[in-house]
Amino acid sequence: AEEALHQARKMEAIGQLTGGLAHDFNNMLAAVSGALELMDIRLRQNQPEHLARYIRTAQDATRRAAALTHRLLAFSRRQTLAPRPTPVDELVAGMVELIQRTVGPQVHILTHAQAAPWPALVDPSQLENALLNLCINARDAMPDGGQVLIETVNVPMDGPAARAHDLPEGDYLLLRVTDNGVGMPADVLDKAFDPFFTTKPLGQGTGLGLSMIYGFARQSGGQVRIASEVGRGTVVSIHLPRAMEGALPVAPTDTRAMADPA
Ligand code: ADP
Repeated sequence: AEEALHQARKMEAIGQLTGGLAHDFNNMLAAVSGALELMDIRLRQNQPEHLARYIRTAQDATRRAAALTHRLLAFSRRQTLAPRPTPVDELVAGMVELIQRTVGPQVHILTHAQAAPWPALVDPSQLENALLNLCINARDAMPDGGQVLIETVNVPMDGPAARAHDLPEGDYLLLRVTDNGVGMPADVLDKAFDPFFTTKPLGQGTGLGLSMIYGFARQSGGQVRIASEVGRGTVVSIHLPRAMEGALPVAPTDTRAMADPA
């Protein structure tokens, strides 16, 4: 759980970092576009002798930009999933104190667990990160305070239900986080899972929280959906596959939590 808080602090730091990276990237693009413009002018003036210098400037800038994206991609691929049967209700109960401390006294954290909830087959520390992220998002959506409800529900899905969720037929444990915050307009909801999409001020949001949660849910064989209404609040539903008794342990898999632009 403390690891999840550490992760949340790291996300804040990444927010500041991405602001800086975007700035560096813009400078490199400006160098390339400036060099191209000068090449264009020289060519039209029939003075090709200056071209080599501008070409070198542009090449330098693109090389630096490529190095930067490689570092970012290496960072995004660092996570590894180690799924195991996880009692999600107990995981939630064990995190409430930390979450409450993190979101502050203005926000009320409530939990409700289904009787005899199924264990889910997930990486517990990734799930902790996801949960803390969702609660921080909920807090940010409730500047004057409010309430966050964290629920766990057993959801057996037959064919049609599973297809509607874009999941294989079977049993799922639903982790649902509901807030009564500002909600999302349609255009925000459309982009909410996009990496780096954020409506928060520079340095405060990374735009990575929901995209990482999406990657985590899909890699775990589950699904995440958001329902939101402006002025009423937001519901994030994460369906996670039920861990079957006697199931063989699953080997850790490499995640690709963030979209790879390559
Ligand atoms: P970040 O929180 O760093 O902005 P996320 O990927 O977690 O990145 O969220 C992307 C955007 O989705 C947020 O900037 C916000 O506009 C919106 N959002 C996420 N969660 C909520 C919520 N619970 N209520 C309202 N808007 C939300």
